[in-house]
Amino acid sequence: MAELSLNTRYREKQFEADARIIIFDGLRVTSPNIADEVRDLISRRPLTRNIFIAAPFICGAQLERLLREGVAAVRAAAGLGEVDLRLWMLDLREHGESLRIEVQDVAATEADGRPAGAPSGVWKPIEPELIEGWLFDLFDVSGALVDAPPGAHFTKSSGKHSTQFLRTSSTLLSTAACGLIAMVSLAKLQYLQPRRVFVDTAPLLSVVYAMNLVATARGFWAAMPEARSFSSYGGKDKLPQLTVGDMVLISASTSGGLARELLVLGARQEMLLTVYYLAADRNGQRLGVTACDLTAHAARTFGYRQLESYPAETCPLCVKGFVRAELEGDQFLIDRRSVKRLRLLRSTQQDDARKLLEKTARAGAWKVPVHSTALGRSILELRREATLDEGGVFEKEFGRLLQRFTPSPLDLVICVGLDATMLQKIANRTGAGKALEGAVIVSHGDLERLKLKERDTRNALVVFDVLQDHSQARTINAALRGICNGGNVTYLAALTMAETARAATDLDVFLTFGERGRDTFTFKSAGRMLLPYHTDESSSWSRERALLQGIAGNRALEPQLQSRLTWLQGAGVEHEQLFLPTIDGRQLQVSPDFVFLPTTERADEVSQGDIFAIVSNVLACARAGEANATLGKAPGRDSPVPAWRQTSLFQTLLCPSNFKDFNDAILRAALLRSATEQELNYVLNDLVSAEMLDLLVGQLQTWQSGGGDALPEFLLALASGRMKLTHSHAVQLQEAVVVANLPNYLKQLVSAT
Ligand SMILES: [Zn+2]
Repeated sequence: MAELSLNTRYREKQFEADARIIIFDGLRVTSPNIADEVRDLISRRPLTRNIFIAAPFICGAQLERLLREGVAAVRAAAGLGEVDLRLWMLDLREHGESLRIEVQDVAATEADGRPAGAPSGVWKPIEPELIEGWLFDLFDVSGALVDAPPGAHFTKSSGKHSTQFLRTSSTLLSTAACGLIAMVSLAKLQYLQPRRVFVDTAPLLSVVYAMNLVATARGFWAAMPEARSFSSYGGKDKLPQLTVGDMVLISASTSGGLARELLVLGARQEMLLTVYYLAADRNGQRLGVTACDLTAHAARTFGYRQLESYPAETCPLCVKGFVRAELEGDQFLIDRRSVKRLRLLRSTQQDDARKLLEKTARAGAWKVPVHSTALGRSILELRREATLDEGGVFEKEFGRLLQRFTPSPLDLVICVGLDATMLQKIANRTGAGKALEGAVIVSHGDLERLKLKERDTRNALVVFDVLQDHSQARTINAALRGICNGGNVTYLAALTMAETARAATDLDVFLTFGERGRDTFTFKSAGRMLLPYHTDESSSWSRERALLQGIAGNRALEPQLQSRLTWLQGAGVEHEQLFLPTIDGRQLQVSPDFVFLPTTERADEVSQGDIFAIVSNVLACARAGEANATLGKAPGRDSPVPAWRQTSLFQTLLCPSNFKDFNDAILRAALLRSATEQELNYVLNDLVSAEMLDLLVGQLQTWQSGGGDALPEFLLALASGRMKLTHSHAVQLQEAVVVANLPNYLKQLVSAT
């Protein structure tokens, strides 16, 4: 591993040449190592005229001995023939009341007939521009000047907005780098043993450790001072009153703002160091001392242009709508995010999904595993009796797929979600019985027990009742690649579920791609649909059960709540009673003008499970975004990632207007239950919270005239903590609740909030 080497262009009289410093770590600084590094540097960098050797973690006398005994000076002298190349050693030395970085040159000589080095013994202070040039080089090669991505800009805790910021921690990635910064810092600061050191960001603690090693190696300090980080502007209020003996390090500054505030808190100018400074505007000011000014000016060969920064109130980037990324010190903050409103429209529902839902409704097909949070599975299930059994909605289409796509001859059938007898029955009923003849039929779990020989070629069929666990399908696919060896494999499902069109396409490609490219294998499904999948959040029903159990722990539950709790405790996979009944005790039912399903016929046979499936599908499409919601028309690889998920920059909230646009009580209830806690977390935005409050107060005011069929569900969402309003809106809602004269069981529910 090469030692850290930094360069700066240096003007000496009329010349401009490279001046390089090599910084050695404590254990690696040996005479042969120094000599090798000098030789390598000369051969790689022929423009170098001055080479400086620094070893922050050993004292000057020790480094001088190593140079005297080694051949580094001889190699430097021989290195470039005619050209004058000088070797210097660099050290931190006491000079009156302060420390200085000083240099002496080392010439080639002979001692006892052997080549050696001869330090001149003449120490002189180093040119300050060399030090700043090297630190600029370190900063620059570390990529520490960070540019915002297009369309974004940084907002700093100083209140300034900018497209760039200085990330000092990027320069602190090695002990050698920290050692150099420590030497420079000690030379700039008053070096008396400090009592405490405060740093503005945690990475600077490594500089404090390095300062301690540098200072104790030379006898300037006796012990490691206590050191701690306060987080830039945000944390300076936590600082104690600063006194004599307190040292403060700031990672970077463009305005001197933080330094000014620290001086007010009692920091002393000669004990306050900013490691990197880049001028930002005319009012910027360097306060205390600075290790490296990065700003370019006419007299120097390096530096950055002044940084453009704007006050928050007049920031032109904000006017252009640039996204704001908040910074504190040199870290990103992610707790304040902009809000996106998730809105459902009639057109959010895809035509294919609408047809499929029309086909599956009224059959008792859709069921909700109310307490499940099984990852990799959808929040809904399809009852097989309603789908693949005799007269089931997918029976005919699935039979047709069996007839058309079953490989022939067929060696092996793997069943997922149904067993051999069921499959045989479906096949016989639909006239596909012959296709299965002679094949071994096993369930997915029994595949390994067959102990099939790996070398044979086989044709296989994999059948799913509902394919929703994509990773399970991939596992089966991987197993079959091993045992089918070029045979034909077909995957058939009654229904395939996916969270996004992209997930569906990925599965499609994975299952069909093989040694003959795309379509090596066959994958067909009688129906396909987007549905939300479980997250690690518990379901609305589990939250409801926990809430009611909590209330019951303190007092007797009102009868309506008691019977609800009894139902919840016995509930498994359900399609009725999913939602709280109306205040007068009616179950919520689809209304004649339901927007996402034709309801002119047999409306009373549409189950709550059907409605929950429909609303969940619409919500899944809205979350996926327009470009990623259409099955069979997958977005290109380069199209943007679906925007409607929670990210470090965005918070997605379910827009309260959805509840106004769709004033069906059952639709509102289904929406409340299928939205995530984060989508209902209106605390994050005062405006959205106010809109939700308006809607709730409206419900409270009209329930006695029959306008609040979904009111129990709204109050439950609030009481269980799935929906949250800002504090002041929650207080206003409580007042409206008191006035509304609610029935006792709802009062009890609300009191648990
Ligand atoms: Zn701005």
